[in-house]
Amino acid sequence: MRTRSPLPLVLLLATVTAWATAGPGIAAPPTPAQTGPTGPQGAGAGAAPGGGSTAKTRADVVLHGGPVYTVDAVRSWAEAVAIKGDKIVYVGGSKEAAAYIGPKTRVVDLGGRMVLPAFQDAHIHPISSGTSMSVSCNLHDQTTKEAYTKKVAEYAAAHPSASWIRGDGWLLPAFPGGIPDKRLLDAVLPGRPAYLESKDGHTAWVNSKALEIAGITKTTPDPAGGRIDRDPKTGEAVGSLQDSAMSLVADKIPPYTQEERKTGLRYALRMLARYGVTSFQDASVGPEDLETYRALDAAGELTARVVASLWWERSKGLEQIPAFLNERRTFTRGNVRATTVKIMQDGVFEAQTAALLKPYVGKGEQKGLSMVEPELLKKAVTELDHDGFQVHFHAIGDAAIRQCLDAVEAARRTNGARDARHHMAHIQLFDPTDIPRFRTLGVVANFQPLWAFADDYITELTLPFLDAERQRFIYPIGSLLRSGAVIAFGSDWSVSSANPLEELEVAVTRMGPNGETKTPYLPDERIDLRDALAAFTLDAAYVNFQDDTTGSIETGKLADLIVLDRNLFAIPPAQISETKVLLTLFGGKPIFGDWSLATPALPDGVAGR
Ligand SMILES: [Zn+2]
Repeated sequence: MRTRSPLPLVLLLATVTAWATAGPGIAAPPTPAQTGPTGPQGAGAGAAPGGGSTAKTRADVVLHGGPVYTVDAVRSWAEAVAIKGDKIVYVGGSKEAAAYIGPKTRVVDLGGRMVLPAFQDAHIHPISSGTSMSVSCNLHDQTTKEAYTKKVAEYAAAHPSASWIRGDGWLLPAFPGGIPDKRLLDAVLPGRPAYLESKDGHTAWVNSKALEIAGITKTTPDPAGGRIDRDPKTGEAVGSLQDSAMSLVADKIPPYTQEERKTGLRYALRMLARYGVTSFQDASVGPEDLETYRALDAAGELTARVVASLWWERSKGLEQIPAFLNERRTFTRGNVRATTVKIMQDGVFEAQTAALLKPYVGKGEQKGLSMVEPELLKKAVTELDHDGFQVHFHAIGDAAIRQCLDAVEAARRTNGARDARHHMAHIQLFDPTDIPRFRTLGVVANFQPLWAFADDYITELTLPFLDAERQRFIYPIGSLLRSGAVIAFGSDWSVSSANPLEELEVAVTRMGPNGETKTPYLPDERIDLRDALAAFTLDAAYVNFQDDTTGSIETGKLADLIVLDRNLFAIPPAQISETKVLLTLFGGKPIFGDWSLATPALPDGVAGR
């Protein structure tokens, strides 16, 4: 068993000048009550072989005096971590950690605060979201159509020279049936075109001027994979464009400049550091995004390890794969790996573009949209798998989930089982027979747990369109976990908050993180905190192909760590989302907070709780 005694007094005195001011000396080691229901387990994780008083390494930093939840294979607890350079050189008891303390070692007393591996986000949109947050009309803080139009009017007045008013962040439930109306925008913006994306990114709200510039009239057909919402009587476009129909207007807007993109990515990195996230998978990148990542990485500003998912263009076929190979070769360096291809197989449930096996209730024969024809999908995934790419699917409806699983199955039949780590994001509605296939086919279930409580999206825009038996398998995180599948979590920011602590709370409670709901939604699908933490650390690292170097606190891994203001295992689940990150280390260096562990100021320009 690990030792539980504090550092010897002599060491305390020798290093007192380096101590954090936060605590009066060394805190008592955590009691079993503090370390949670499971209590401390096992020996100190990764304790140096033959550790004790004869350690050869003097660490740059020793953190001790608080519960260290390592997320190693046996989910060990420890009470001290030693860091040298960018790596962890020791994890285990405080007594043995003393041997790593030399005259120049910074010794930080955790004062009972918790250390975790830094979080990893398996599905997020940092550049596009950061850019829209920092350099366009940001509607994320409003919730009503009145507030949206007011914000648009103010933004337009403040940007008189902008040729287009663009922005995003509005919520579908703010409009009847989730369909916004161009007339609301025309009233405040008659002369300039407006293009505003919904928070989920699947619908654009545009005004008459924008429709005119795009040449959209009564007779314009719906493009493949999209829909122009129309007035049922006149057939005229109402100002709401779904999925691929969005690009009819979006293609007319001048793209963001590289400087604007860099501003956006810097914003996202500051925000992610604040939330303790140091690795992520960007769920959709184009060539210009790869340039942005490269530019910040070359400048030493990229404070995250990035996996870039190259965007599969639905209007094209296998002929786009050579370009992906070229991008992988060109852009995989430093902290960036362009090793994944993103295939979006359907739309979203709320707009009835998610692909279902049986029709939406009350919508005639409507079964949503399969974006890539299923036989082509099999060929594409087989070819990408053969070329060593990871495939990152967007699948929401039960038909889309099945088509993606079938495609992976086809790839394995042809190529054999390889360490591909293909993963499927969003995965809202399951046919239960497909649940075990994730494990069998080695497909990672990439959930966005913040969506798994009974908010308006579920109660108003989802459940009314499903018969009772199909309502049981919505975001079945617990079922997937019990089936033996690997679960990874992501935020899909800016669709949802990028704060993993909010998402973790919902995974554990299936209730709104801010008291929005009072009863758990599908309570059998709750998972325990240990599994939820793994999905945001080690198993997200697995899907990012970084589990050999990150995702847990083990000797030899990179020192990507966070310190929280409380022990997550010692608080009621409803407080998980209130927990604050005090310090984020990226390769041993603070990128948020400092060694004093005082409550940090919010990063520049980053709002929110
Ligand atoms: Zn996404």
